Amino acid sequence: MTRYVYDFVEGNMDLKDLLGGKGANLAEMTRMGLPVPPGFTVTTDACRAYLRTGSMPTSLLGEVEHHLRMVQNQIGKTFGDPDDPLLLSVRSGAKFSMPGMMETILDIGLSDASVAGLGRQTGNERFAWDSYRRLIQMFGKTVFDVPGEAFDEELAAAGGIGAGLSVTQLQDLVLAYKKVFHAHTGRDFPQAPHEQLFLAIGAVFRSWNAERATLYRRQERIPQDLGTAVNVMAMVFGNRGDDSGTGVAFTRDPATGRRGVYGDYLRNAQGEDVVAGIRNTMSLAELATIDPASHRQLLSIMQRLEQHYRDLCDIEFTIENGRLWMLQTRVGKRTPAAAFVIAAQLVDEGTITLDEALQRVTGEQLAQLMFPSFDTAAAPEPLTTGVPASPGAAVGAIVFDSAAAAAATEPVILVRRETNPDDLPGMIAAQGILTSRGGKTSHAAVVARGMGKTCVCGAEELVIDDGLVTVAGRTLHAGDVISLDGTTGKVYPGAVAVRPSPVVRYFEGELTAHGDPLLAAVERLMIHADHTARLAVHANADTGADAARARRFGATGVGLCRTEHMFLGDRRVLIERLILGDDGALADLLPLQRADFEELFTAMDSMPVTVRLIDPPLHEFLPPLEELTARVARAEALGQDPGRDGTLLTAVRRMHEQNPMLGLRGVRLGLVIPGLFAMQVRAIAEAAAARVAAGGDPRPEIMIPLVGAVQELETVRAEAESVLASVPGAPPIRIGTMIEVPRAALTAGQIAGAAEFFSFGTNDLTQMTWGFSRDDVEGAFFGRYLGLGIFAVSPFETIDGDGVGELVRIAVERGRATRPDLTVGVCGEHGGDPASVRFFHDAGLDYVSCSPFRVPIARLEAGRAAS
Ligand code: PEP
Ligand code: MG
Repeated sequence: MTRYVYDFVEGNMDLKDLLGGKGANLAEMTRMGLPVPPGFTVTTDACRAYLRTGSMPTSLLGEVEHHLRMVQNQIGKTFGDPDDPLLLSVRSGAKFSMPGMMETILDIGLSDASVAGLGRQTGNERFAWDSYRRLIQMFGKTVFDVPGEAFDEELAAAGGIGAGLSVTQLQDLVLAYKKVFHAHTGRDFPQAPHEQLFLAIGAVFRSWNAERATLYRRQERIPQDLGTAVNVMAMVFGNRGDDSGTGVAFTRDPATGRRGVYGDYLRNAQGEDVVAGIRNTMSLAELATIDPASHRQLLSIMQRLEQHYRDLCDIEFTIENGRLWMLQTRVGKRTPAAAFVIAAQLVDEGTITLDEALQRVTGEQLAQLMFPSFDTAAAPEPLTTGVPASPGAAVGAIVFDSAAAAAATEPVILVRRETNPDDLPGMIAAQGILTSRGGKTSHAAVVARGMGKTCVCGAEELVIDDGLVTVAGRTLHAGDVISLDGTTGKVYPGAVAVRPSPVVRYFEGELTAHGDPLLAAVERLMIHADHTARLAVHANADTGADAARARRFGATGVGLCRTEHMFLGDRRVLIERLILGDDGALADLLPLQRADFEELFTAMDSMPVTVRLIDPPLHEFLPPLEELTARVARAEALGQDPGRDGTLLTAVRRMHEQNPMLGLRGVRLGLVIPGLFAMQVRAIAEAAAARVAAGGDPRPEIMIPLVGAVQELETVRAEAESVLASVPGAPPIRIGTMIEVPRAALTAGQIAGAAEFFSFGTNDLTQMTWGFSRDDVEGAFFGRYLGLGIFAVSPFETIDGDGVGELVRIAVERGRATRPDLTVGVCGEHGGDPASVRFFHDAGLDYVSCSPFRVPIARLEAGRAAS
């Protein structure tokens, strides 16, 4: 028969699944001989059974009674004894900490009969009646959903908590509370202690499914089916006078990681008073002056806990009449900076190994440390909140078009309904990008993340029209300054103060780690991560400057150069000429492309540079259909010849596609537009030859996008090989393909016959596997999907291991079966996502490639995955 209750002396810290974090740690402290009030834990199994059936498992009642007797024996008091009652606390405690999300009820066991006894025993009638009114309030709210305000109103009418109510006033308050209880529940406040206890346990079970708890788990990616344990513990009282109190403490500073205990203590109070922040707390140093013995004992316990858990611990404690009790401990939450500092300190102190230290920090934390940040204490009310698409803190004057952004001399924020490839120069020039449409994979978001630029998108409350933006009743004009927080999605009016990230300045080589605990810790862990990692980390970079930064950030190659980015700006007319059938266009493009590649190969000398041949549909480089139509109509209305615009319009109409993402792009373009791929291949080979001639060591690779069938690849490969053979002095250049169409993954065995390497384009692979348009869905319905738990995180952000990931595994296996030395990497957005990096490590890839700013994050995660 399943056992549902464990005494604190029976459990230990490894039983978190069964006893929850709090219960497991209370048991551990009890085993260590620390002063923990006696008690027991009702298991998560019991909670799951209760939530499944709606009633307590029958054997649970007997078990609770049995363990309650053990507590009574230990303490020498009886639950419900009118003369000297044992009182209990009933607290939730799931496997993962869910601060404040579930319920706690204190002082269980008090009744009309025992309140007087408690007063006599403690010699403190005030305390007894105050405890009773707290019980009715907490019990009413938690077990019977009585609205908290109903009690608050009575308390305020009696003069409030700070007023030091007299015994008579407290007795009146108890009466008033009981009336409130009756009015809302239709029954009297239960007087039988055992009934109180079981009702409280049931309420804690149910609080697992409270709306806020469910939401919190969804956000924190905690499974919804774990259930909570319930800890039942003998009450100790911090509110029994000035030699009593309650506090929280940390074994190191959780904000900075600095060594030394840190905590708050509140005299003559219960835990809820500390959390409510009703009264001012004192520091632990002050506690030392009023109760040196308890303080000394507390410090020695904290030291033991740290050594035992080998990490920063936080604790909750209570002092009752000068006697110290431990109510909780756990490995404490900390800021990202503290996580790095503490991990390195613990290595220095000989407590953990470097491998363990790597497990104590995460790529997410490093990412947090790399963003500039706002001084939010100084920030005004936000104007609105959008999708936090690319983190960072940006301040600038509003501009509504890309040209104005590019021409600006002051910092600007580009504000658009949405962006398109045309906006690139403006996006590069702006401090940040704000859009009213689109989600995390909209054009604005993807490009901004690639550039490490702050972006808030999909801020739907913004109405952007005709050189104005209105939001929440305010109108902003071009030139008005706003501040964007890309980490929270908040948009502020005016300039909020910004702090640059010292960690980025360190990676850039502007700061050394010497003498700075955080930078020294980052340096040490990065070195160890690189040493441990099996996955290499390459960067997605299209320019020499991006590649150089990626290299400074530790990339050991370029995994994706998107050559279409070289077709923008002034070169657009060359694409127009190409589309209009001008044979000279390719010849004119050749030297420009050659120069682009030379720059890139110079920046990445002696490292692989994977150049992807042009991918998007060519009409993306032409003026938009509406704009052209209007221009032509205007010319015609004036009786003028629309000239080139007329020809362009015909071409745009001819090339118009309903689904451009599934249309004439990638390898299909190479097969349809004669000479286009050949020009790019020649430019790559000639640039490499020039670098060799100049004494360099270029290592280009050619990558063909959007391949779905080996025949496509074989055709372009044959053409590319003949071009390569015709360029003297070029180094050997490998030819490979992206795997981004599901069919390519499934036929990887065939495709590997014509590819020396694979690179997973997981953006398109996700788009095509789910059938989700990557530019549209996030804003349109992902909110609902996330709400329904269809996925916990967008599959465009973290690789969908079951579906898209399965295609990756299949392709790796089939590709390597054909060609055992096949190099396999990934260059979709997932390459820089911490959870996905681990997936790619496990799937046996050789490298991940991500935007330069995410390179350190991927390096750290690659090390963590291997350690
Ligand atoms: C991809 O599809 O994952 C990829 C890297 O290519 P792009 O994002 O340019 O389509
Ligand atoms: Mg792609």
